Amino acid sequence: MAKERIISPAAQKRDDVPAPGGGGGGGAAIRPRTMDEFIGQRDLVEKLIIALFAARQRGEPMEHVLLHGPPGLGKTTLAHVIAEEMGTRLYVTSGPALSKGADLVGTLTKMQPHDVLFIDEIHRLPAAVEEFIYPAMEDFKIDFTLDAGMHAKVITYHLKPFTLIGATTRAGLLTGALRSRFGIAHNLRFYDEPDLLEILRRAAARLALDAIGSDALSAIARRSRGTPRIAIRLLRRVRDFGQIRAAGRIDAGVIDDALALEGVDDRGLDDFDRMYLRAMADVYAGGPVGLEAIAATIGQDAGTLEDVVEPFLLQIGFIARTRQGRQLTSVGAGHLGAAIAAGEDAPPRLFAGE
Ligand code: ADP
Repeated sequence: MAKERIISPAAQKRDDVPAPGGGGGGGAAIRPRTMDEFIGQRDLVEKLIIALFAARQRGEPMEHVLLHGPPGLGKTTLAHVIAEEMGTRLYVTSGPALSKGADLVGTLTKMQPHDVLFIDEIHRLPAAVEEFIYPAMEDFKIDFTLDAGMHAKVITYHLKPFTLIGATTRAGLLTGALRSRFGIAHNLRFYDEPDLLEILRRAAARLALDAIGSDALSAIARRSRGTPRIAIRLLRRVRDFGQIRAAGRIDAGVIDDALALEGVDDRGLDDFDRMYLRAMADVYAGGPVGLEAIAATIGQDAGTLEDVVEPFLLQIGFIARTRQGRQLTSVGAGHLGAAIAAGEDAPPRLFAGE
């Protein structure tokens, strides 16, 4: 079976720790529950704390919030935290799950004052649903039509004041009309190493991994692509590896072995990233090349590459985006060359199940 990609969106979602009240099972809840427990993104947290406290003081719902940024940076977590801090309930749905306005009526009419509605992948909301939620966002009301033809009647339903939190990996795909209806819009950035280290420390404590030292956690933080979800996921993999292959010991050597098994290199790149870089280098002489062309060459979806692979490669300067397309930088080429020399670049696995 093909090794599951450690940072693929599907793999990431599955890794989500049980929701509060979802039962302990094998893993204790790691998701931060309050603003205090939420590490990093200080400017955003500060903005949200001010908005939250102001809303609470006035007895109003929190403003609508739009969060954008690559997967795994804490958008869903922040929605949970905001509901927790408001002392209200969170309702979760996603753009692709909603095909018509009526799909939202049940939830919207059930929501109590100041409850929070979280719509993930909000850029995939169909136009009809988008238009349906405008009056809900602005005036806390929805219009729906009863009957058809001659007898059609538009009924206006007044909702309890609520907060909409939208999350997207592609802010660029949002219509201006939707974007302008959010009081707060913020782009989440990749986390730096000290923040990731702190996230890992707390996660290790909750996973009862007392024996793991700071050096070992730093080694994981360095390879986490600036992403908390990946950091926690790597920690779990390392924990399993240590338990089965190293008698419970977790040190730098064990981490190297565990991550080598996952195909994760010293910069946190995996086979998928290297396949992307290698296609650019070998097939397109380093670029510039269009995203669609790379996607076709390696048999992957362009959207996934854009959401999951490219942001971090851009951030660390391995690729650049030019008017003509994507370009491999000399730093990227150097890393790829070293990976090839070290035998780290697995042959491209173009087909699942290999
Ligand atoms: P997104 O919605 O942006 O894809 P999530 O909110 O699902 O990301 O976060 C993924 C995981 O990473 C969560 O389960 C949470 O445990 C962890 N996480 C994210 N951001 C933070 C943070 N700032 N502090 C601590 N843990 C975090």
